[in-house]
Amino acid sequence: MSLNVKEIFYSLQGEGERQGEASIFIRLAGCNLKCDFCDTDFSGGTKMELSDIEAAISNYPCQWLIWTGGEPALQLTAVDTAFLKQKGYRQAIESNGHYPLPEGLDYTVVSPKGNVGYAAKVNPIVDEIRLPVRVGDRLPDISILPKAKYYFVSPVFNDILATNVESTEDNIAYCVELVRQNPQWRLSLQIHKLINIE
Ligand code: SF4
Repeated sequence: MSLNVKEIFYSLQGEGERQGEASIFIRLAGCNLKCDFCDTDFSGGTKMELSDIEAAISNYPCQWLIWTGGEPALQLTAVDTAFLKQKGYRQAIESNGHYPLPEGLDYTVVSPKGNVGYAAKVNPIVDEIRLPVRVGDRLPDISILPKAKYYFVSPVFNDILATNVESTEDNIAYCVELVRQNPQWRLSLQIHKLINIE
């Protein structure tokens, strides 16, 4: 079994409930969406066998993996998660929720985009919803989203060189007010960008 891998790196989870935990990130190539705020290069990639992936991550002093992308659910299967589970790894995923998540995951994050109603139909129960929000975005009713333990709003961090877009600071201030008004939601900042780590 092989996966098309864009990059593997070791860092801290920057967002959501697991923020601050050391994790090995495996970024799979490819995505089904083209979000206009996307800050990730998920093109290309290198085919890696599961044994190659295991070898690449084996020197990190950490047993938490995060499957990310792009959209990892385009490739990841229960065979892949079972292989790494058997090697002792706990596994999280960060997905846009357009595809069923494979079995064998220990923590599931869905970050729905656009018309978010699709996500609950595909994955009715997840651990965490993390919704990217910009100035002017409205929060969906939680009842149309997958059932989750945690619901986060995540202010979109814009490229400071971009023009004609709201500033990151504006998005953060907007999300702070959204959470004040909708306390079932929590604020998630992308701290890896704030402290300038990968
Ligand atoms: S779903 Fe995520 S990775 Fe895919 S285009 Fe949107 S922001 Fe980028």
